[in-house]
Amino acid sequence: MPLLVSLQLALYVLLWALASAALKDERRAILQWMGYALASAGSVALLGWRPDGPIWLTHTGSSAASLLSLMLASRGVLLFLGLRPNDRLSIALAGAAAMGLGWVGPSDTASRLAVAGFFNIVVIVGGFVQSRPAFMREFGLRLAVAATLPSLILIGMNGYFLILGLLGRAPVISAQKGELPMAIWVVTLVSAAAFNYLFLFLVGFRMQQSLQRQATHDVLTGLPNRRAMAQRLQLEWDRSQRYGKPFVVISADVDHFKSINDRYGHALGDQALIAVARALRASARDSDHVSRVGGEEFLILMPEAQMASEGLPKAERLRAAIARLELMAPSGEKIALHASFGVSGWLASDQDREQVLRRADRALYEAKHKGRDRVVLQPD
Ligand code: GH3
Ligand code: MG
Ligand code: MG
Repeated sequence: MPLLVSLQLALYVLLWALASAALKDERRAILQWMGYALASAGSVALLGWRPDGPIWLTHTGSSAASLLSLMLASRGVLLFLGLRPNDRLSIALAGAAAMGLGWVGPSDTASRLAVAGFFNIVVIVGGFVQSRPAFMREFGLRLAVAATLPSLILIGMNGYFLILGLLGRAPVISAQKGELPMAIWVVTLVSAAAFNYLFLFLVGFRMQQSLQRQATHDVLTGLPNRRAMAQRLQLEWDRSQRYGKPFVVISADVDHFKSINDRYGHALGDQALIAVARALRASARDSDHVSRVGGEEFLILMPEAQMASEGLPKAERLRAAIARLELMAPSGEKIALHASFGVSGWLASDQDREQVLRRADRALYEAKHKGRDRVVLQPD
């Protein structure tokens, strides 16, 4: 049985080794988890060496390897969540555990189990408490509940050891017989599988989330891109068709942007776009969908608005916010930014969503034509 279990744990080492080669972003956490799987495989292998192996290795060594594996697992979780593990605390804890295990010695099974159980629980609970808020923030309640499973199993097993040890009832695990109860193997296998697969899943989940974000967001400004805007517009269009619920769109385009690029360089042009995007986002409502749909073109979708004319004061606010922006050229010269806006709203007679956009673009064209830095409502 110990051979089978440590082979299974060694497979996780292989799994994490492959993952660390493929997923460079998560390598720091993955290396800890590789160490975790390695140390727990080592701990089980030492158990399997009983009763032939040296007792300091097969008993004290196995307990120490098991504690080390938990410390590495917890370090990996903290690194994965972008938190900083407290190295001094870990070293102090490891030192205290080593002293405790050395003091009780290998053959007093009850005391050794009590010491190992105590430190194991401290590591598991400590890691759990430290990582919980960040975990909830990134992965939500449901996954957080799933993630408590391996911790709970391990706390249960170690709590059982601790109590057995404190009651002096540990001879179930005898040094001579070398045979451990079946339940210990099952718990070890189940908790290791739960932990390894859960975090392997989370690594993939995070990657999927990040790809999803890259596909729907603009890299420069962080705003939703044209594709995300089209999806959102489709949603609003469907609602308007089904329930007659109107919406308003505002099309915005930075004025004479090409000359900013030409005069001050592309990098400063990029800074200007970031500033414009921030100003638009900050001046819009949370419920407004602000996107960058082209080079210096933005679209604001107002799902809450009933009539196109409601878009006018909003567009005017956005225009004023951009006009207030002041960019500094490397020479110290102040660069003014302006933008033109076209506003349109859904009409019951519209045949498709493009019609609403076309009206906003026509209004924008008119704003440009009339001298820029202004807002024009859709032509009827
Ligand atoms: P108008 O007032 O008529 O809108 O004039 P404009 O110069 O703003 O319009 P035009 O369409 O001629 O120029 C847009 C410029 O935006 C051209 C392009 O080089 C620049 N541009 C597009 N995307 C980016 C970007 O990501 N970064 C920078 N720096 N410039 C960009
Ligand atoms: Mg343009
Ligand atoms: Mg422009």
